[in-house]
Amino acid sequence: MIDLHTHSRKSDGVDTPTELVEKAAEAGVKVLAITDHDTVSGWEEAAAAAARVGIGLVPGIEVSTRSEVEGGRISVHILAYLPDPTNAPLMAELEKTRNSRLTRAQEMVTRLSADYPLSWEDVLAELDPGATVGRPAIADALVTKGIVPTRSDAFTSILHRRSPYYVSDYSIDTLAAIGLIRAAGGVSVIAHPLIDFPAGRSESDLPAKHFERLISAGLDGIEINHRSVPEFARPWLTELALRHNLVVTGSSDYHGLGAKENQLGENTTSAEMLGRILDQATGFEAFL
Ligand code: AMP
Ligand code: FE
Ligand code: FE
Ligand code: ZN
Repeated sequence: MIDLHTHSRKSDGVDTPTELVEKAAEAGVKVLAITDHDTVSGWEEAAAAAARVGIGLVPGIEVSTRSEVEGGRISVHILAYLPDPTNAPLMAELEKTRNSRLTRAQEMVTRLSADYPLSWEDVLAELDPGATVGRPAIADALVTKGIVPTRSDAFTSILHRRSPYYVSDYSIDTLAAIGLIRAAGGVSVIAHPLIDFPAGRSESDLPAKHFERLISAGLDGIEINHRSVPEFARPWLTELALRHNLVVTGSSDYHGLGAKENQLGENTTSAEMLGRILDQATGFEAFL
């Protein structure tokens, strides 16, 4: 079982990298990728744990990006597998993103604190030092303070994108990110494509031009088998991947118990597709 998209406490997961690897091994995962948002800070600990429990580890990053499409700007997550973690341009860009996410989260807490008993210290208490901050940490603090019952409830109410407390953050342009990942020797795979695509639309409404642009920029693969990818779009994405000889992956996007429903190994990637990722990557060695 190969699961190539999971999170630890180094971003918005609830498990330490060690716990994440141990739980993956217990769930029957043989090769795991750790892909925290915009950081490589969990790689070392995860690799040590994987060696101890005897599973393979593929270090990765889920890079936050933005794209201009018809109808406005959208958030796009790009999984970067095995980029060089000392590559200066890529690391500088990730740091810029993390810093912007920090000031943005502080601004959201300032707005929230006008109406709710919530302080920045409450949010910090939910985070590991050096972790990438996001709405999930604010959601956890809101749950701890008893203001909302669960993380998901926070996301559908006061942390929602259309809530007055919401503040947007800086992210690198998607095409630029794909280029940076490639230059750092990494393999880029678009995470959970079309996750925000409005319900009730059909194949002819899909943003074909946007995908063509990503592929021209050097996108290497598509994460099609993920619980949040709309069913109706999967044949279209599969055909696109075949036509452009792209890697197709499946993953859980596990964040830990209580954070999201996603379970380790609920979607998996074939050994052949993992092999293609390993062959294409030149930035770093997987621990296999
Ligand atoms: P942000 O990037 O700070 O705006 O927050 C988005 C992140 O929150 C995503 O990467 C998800 O991991 C997480 N997220 C989004 N929606 C939910 C939800 N309904 N429940 C729990 N976590 C969520
Ligand atoms: Fe996340
Ligand atoms: Fe994501
Ligand atoms: Zn993710």
